[in-house]
Amino acid sequence: MNIHAILYSAFILCTSAIATPKNVILMISDGCGYNQIEAANLYQTGRRVAQIYESFPVKIPMSTWSKTGNKYDGNKAAKDATWVKFKPTDSAASATAFATGKKAYDSSIGMDMDKHPMKNLSETARKAGKSAGVVTTAPISHATPSAFVVHNESRNNYEDIANSMIFDSDVQVIFGAGHPFYDNDGKQVKTPDYKYIGQAAFDSLAHGGAKSRGGTWSFIETKSAFDSLAQGRSKLPERIVGIAQVYYTFEEARGGKDHGRDSVYQSPFNANVPTLATLAQGALRVLSQNEKGFFLMVEGGAVDMAAHDNYFARSIEEELDFDRAVDSVVTWIENHGGFEETLLIVTGDHETGYLTGPGGVKDSAAIDYKLINNGKGNMPGYAWNLKSHSNQLVPLFAKGNSSGSIIKIAGTDPVRGPYTDNAMIGSELLKILSAK
Ligand SMILES: [Zn+2]
Repeated sequence: MNIHAILYSAFILCTSAIATPKNVILMISDGCGYNQIEAANLYQTGRRVAQIYESFPVKIPMSTWSKTGNKYDGNKAAKDATWVKFKPTDSAASATAFATGKKAYDSSIGMDMDKHPMKNLSETARKAGKSAGVVTTAPISHATPSAFVVHNESRNNYEDIANSMIFDSDVQVIFGAGHPFYDNDGKQVKTPDYKYIGQAAFDSLAHGGAKSRGGTWSFIETKSAFDSLAQGRSKLPERIVGIAQVYYTFEEARGGKDHGRDSVYQSPFNANVPTLATLAQGALRVLSQNEKGFFLMVEGGAVDMAAHDNYFARSIEEELDFDRAVDSVVTWIENHGGFEETLLIVTGDHETGYLTGPGGVKDSAAIDYKLINNGKGNMPGYAWNLKSHSNQLVPLFAKGNSSGSIIKIAGTDPVRGPYTDNAMIGSELLKILSAK
């Protein structure tokens, strides 16, 4: 290659490289720490490391603490195995940290300590001319999805939050659960339960014509409508709300014999409910209509719920549903401009259940952390040590444009090494999404 060719190649490289990614996709497995990923891997493959995102160029631990809880302290956590059991974040504060770049109090939906709204990633993306959306296997008004869209003093104000999402927000996609006319098995109920959506919002969606300052919403609810959208068989709407025909969560709360002892997939999945991968694909098709790009948050919402209940098989089912959604997003990125155009982050918002090896956490000094590998298709040896969240570091994986530069170091953990923090990630994503 002569000097002109070399200079020309360098010129092409410089002009073709984009400083910041066009698209940002943040995938959050709610309640997922290191061992939740490993448990799903062991069941699925018999290997401890098996997911595509585990080979991403950026892999780093992340702290998740909230202003209400204990600030993460690696030395205290290393000295006393019970320290992480106390004063962890909730999902609202962690989602708010990701969404606004600021630590908040537990139950805050995008509000600061004085209960003033803080600008979030969706609002920032919209201001830059990009599209924005959230999808989840939990109700749409649940803490994680809502903190990326609206602002509320408390995560428990579901109807209020749903009203803000439907009648006020400026995002393009909202998919999730909370359907008032269906139960946790996807069966129709006689008396609707509007807890998660509210009658006004649901009626206006179902009757057509629901709108906010972002325009009029399309609405879907059947599995076939979600499938058609994901597979490109239906006309693309500009904005869409999808409420799957199920109540609290897509699959985790469905019936079964004994949830605590059942094996993985022992009870058949709800037949009328899509997968998280289907939701993600549908959202990507709608959002990528915008040539300026988009921000999408994808939540596996029920790993946390399974872990609260200490239902091991269901936590594996939910993590595998999340993992398949990541696979589908990676394939989409590869087919749509590649990782030069899109930044993908895969992480958890906090760990739930303090999942360990079968010896568990006996006292401050004794912990049996490592799951037992019982081979592919078998449940690993495990123990739960909590029915709530823990304050452990969780893993974060990133690939694509700016994946290295978003990582700022919050501290060094004596066990896991340098770690970042959820609010630091949020703060960097805000910078990326505000670039026009
Ligand atoms: Zn939780």
